[in-house]
Amino acid sequence: MHRFNQRISNALAERDQQGLYRQRTCLERQSDHESERVRSEDGAYLNFSSNDYLGLAQSPELIQAWQEGLSLYGAGSGASPLVTGYHRPHANVEAQLAEWLGFDRALLFSSGFSANQAVLFALLQCGDSLFQDKLNHASLIEAGMLSEANMRRFAHNDVSSLSRLLNKNSDSGSVNFVATEGVFSMDGDLSPLAEISAACHQAESVLLVDDAHGCGVLGHDGKGSCELAGVQPDILVVTFGKAFGLQGAAVLCSQDTAEYLVQFARHYVYSTAMPPAQAHALSTACRMIQSDGWRRERLGELSQTLVEGLDYGIGFDDTPSPIKPLMVGKSDEALRISHALRQRGIWVSAIRPPTVPVNSARLRITLTAAHQPDDIKQLSMAINEVFHGE
Ligand SMILES: *Cc1c(COP(=O)(O)O)cnc(C)c1O
Repeated sequence: MHRFNQRISNALAERDQQGLYRQRTCLERQSDHESERVRSEDGAYLNFSSNDYLGLAQSPELIQAWQEGLSLYGAGSGASPLVTGYHRPHANVEAQLAEWLGFDRALLFSSGFSANQAVLFALLQCGDSLFQDKLNHASLIEAGMLSEANMRRFAHNDVSSLSRLLNKNSDSGSVNFVATEGVFSMDGDLSPLAEISAACHQAESVLLVDDAHGCGVLGHDGKGSCELAGVQPDILVVTFGKAFGLQGAAVLCSQDTAEYLVQFARHYVYSTAMPPAQAHALSTACRMIQSDGWRRERLGELSQTLVEGLDYGIGFDDTPSPIKPLMVGKSDEALRISHALRQRGIWVSAIRPPTVPVNSARLRITLTAAHQPDDIKQLSMAINEVFHGE
C-alpha cells in the first residue's frame, strides 16, 4: 500500500509544481434560457465556457420534452440495447438522425467518448493504418493508440502531410482509415474536409469525421461541417452534449457498418442503453436544431460583436465557429488571466497542457445563442482591461 500511496501523492505534487493542477468548482447554472450564467459559492458569472452553443440545455421546450419522456417511458432503459434496452424513442431518433444527416443508419451511444472508442476498437484490425490529425480529441487519439491498428498523426489540417502518409501505405493490402474533427474543439478552426475527403478517395481510405462541435452549428439546417464542405464521410460521429444541449452520441454509417457495430462494438453491446426519455428529448433537440435558424444567426451576430469589441493589440484571430480561443502560451499566465476575468464576473476557463500542446495554453471562449450582445460587450471590455494590465 505504501508504494501505491506514494505514487499517487508524487504525481499530484508534480502536477501542482507544473502549474497543471486541475480543480473542479461546484457550479449552479442559472435556469434562464435567455442568459448564460453560472453561480458558485463566491458569486455569479457570465459563462463563456459552455458547449451548449445553441442554448438548448435551458430551453423550456427541451426541458418539457425530457419531462414528457419521463412520464411516457420511465427513468432508465433497464438494459443494454441487445437485451431489452432498445425502445421506440431510440428507434425513432436513430431514424430521424439518419434521414436528416443523409446516412443509412444511426446508432446511439451514451457518450461521444465511448462512440469514438467503440468505432476505432471494433472497425480496425491488426495491420491496418490509422491516420489522425494531431489535434484530434483525446477520445480519438487514445482509442487509436489502444486499437489494433498502427496509428500515425499528421500535422494539423495538413493535407499534404496526410497524402504522403497515405501514399506510402497505398498497396499494403490492409485498410487505411483517416480520422479528423469537423471543428477542432480547442482551436475552433475547421478541417479542410473537401481536400481530406479527396485524398481519402484517391487512396481508397475510410474517412471518419467527429463533428462534435459542428453538428447543430454549421451548415444548412445545422447539418454540420460535412454538409458545409459538401462531403460525405464513411463514418460520422455526432455528440449530443454540445449543440444538442443533452448527452450521448450517434455514429452515422452504412447499413452494414451499423450491423457490424451492433455485433462487435463492445461499448455498444455491454453498456446500458441511454434512457428512453433522453432519446425522446433528443428527437425534440433534433427538430429544434433544424427549425431554430435564429440560434445560428444569433451566434454569427455575437461573433461579430466580439471581434469589434476586442482591442487590436490582443492578437485575437477570429474563427468560423463559436469556439474563440485567445492564445496566451504559458499555463500560469493563462490561469492569471482567467482569475482576473473571474474577479470581473466573467467565467472563461484556462485550457492548459496536456489538453493542448505545451506552450499553447489559452483562454477558450465559447459563445452561445443564450448570450446577449451586452454580455459580449462586457466580456470584451474585461479582456481588454486584463490584457492591458489595468
Ligand atoms: C466532447 C467531444 C467528444 C466526447 O463527447 P462526450 O459526449 O462528451 O463524451 C468527442 N469528440 C470531440 C471532438 C469532442 O469535442
